[in-house]
Amino acid sequence: MQDWRIKAESELTGIRIKRDAPMAKLTTFKIGGPLDLLVEPENLDDLRRVLTFCRDQEITWLIIGRGSNLLVRDKGIRGIGIRLAGSFVEWEADETRVTAGAGVILTDLAKGTACLGLTGLEFACGIPGTVGGAVFMNAGAYDGEMSRVITIVEAFDALTMELIRFTSAELEFGYRHSRFQKESKLVVTSLTLQLQRSDPEDANHKITELTCRRENSQPLDMPSAGSVFRRPEGYFVGTLITEAGLRGFAIGGAQVSTKHGGFIVNKGNATAADVLALIKHIQKVIKERAGVELIPEYRIIGEE
Ligand SMILES: Cc1cc2nc3c(=O)[nH]c(=O)nc-3n(C[C@H](O)[C@H](O)[C@H](O)COP(=O)(O)OP(=O)(O)OC[C@H]3O[C@@H](n4cnc5c(N)ncnc54)[C@H](O)[C@@H]3O)c2cc1C
Repeated sequence: MQDWRIKAESELTGIRIKRDAPMAKLTTFKIGGPLDLLVEPENLDDLRRVLTFCRDQEITWLIIGRGSNLLVRDKGIRGIGIRLAGSFVEWEADETRVTAGAGVILTDLAKGTACLGLTGLEFACGIPGTVGGAVFMNAGAYDGEMSRVITIVEAFDALTMELIRFTSAELEFGYRHSRFQKESKLVVTSLTLQLQRSDPEDANHKITELTCRRENSQPLDMPSAGSVFRRPEGYFVGTLITEAGLRGFAIGGAQVSTKHGGFIVNKGNATAADVLALIKHIQKVIKERAGVELIPEYRIIGEE
């Protein structure tokens, strides 16, 4: 065992820690080798202690949300993976203003706010990540996007160890983009949303309708990490892949979904190497056939 892990266990007392956590259990793809140390801070004080330890010991770290946009390589992740727990998974509504910790599950928040008769977040009812991951990715669906409902995001700066408050305008939101993607020292800790008052029945009806649309078009019964590629200007990825005859094409345990060409599913025993080889093959075929460069939307992480 590496020395720094013994030190982490003795210094980070009171915080849940697990050695060699299998990333296959921490991702929706069910793929990925071990993470050296999984640490679960429950409040800002815990988070500060963890990040101070990482800074002082020069240990690399990253935040793991629900792992629903992650492809983790087979050798796993070196360093510390931080999963926000405790007070970070709480949310509350004050009239039409909603405040949520970064660890809250987005689908729960979308359904919970709809039940309170608030409209605006229904688009997110099928996005299986955390609030923090959704801010990081500016997640969106069915003409909705996080950037349209967020007013404030609070983030913890791992260099200064201070909490910073950002307005939406400061977050550089774009298509599946936010400033957090280029500032790895920032941990999103909470957000504030501005929603509108509505009839709970209407909001719940919209959730049911969007859930049906998703169930009919996406392979939700198999492990995946959502859309493989970013949407290229002027094209639909699913259509390009379907027209190229790649639906159902498999390498090892990784298969282009037979239901939606834009998804790769894990048939049960897929490795990250299988998925990466399949991505490469799809990119090559689509480039040759349609002249379109496909760029992965997944965050591909871990030791090469
Ligand atoms: C079946 C399925 C359907 C999906 N449909 C959609 C969809 O319709 N629209 C869409 O946009 N996405 C969709 N996704 C992708 C995914 O759910 C989103 O990208 C989601 O926002 C990722 O959140 P997460 O918590 O799982 O983040 P992770 O996958 O755990 O992490 C993604 C990135 O965010 C970073 N991160 C996470 N939390 C924080 C934080 N608190 N502070 C700083 N950085 C953080 C991580 O370090 C990582 O780099 C889908 C995925 C699946 C499996």
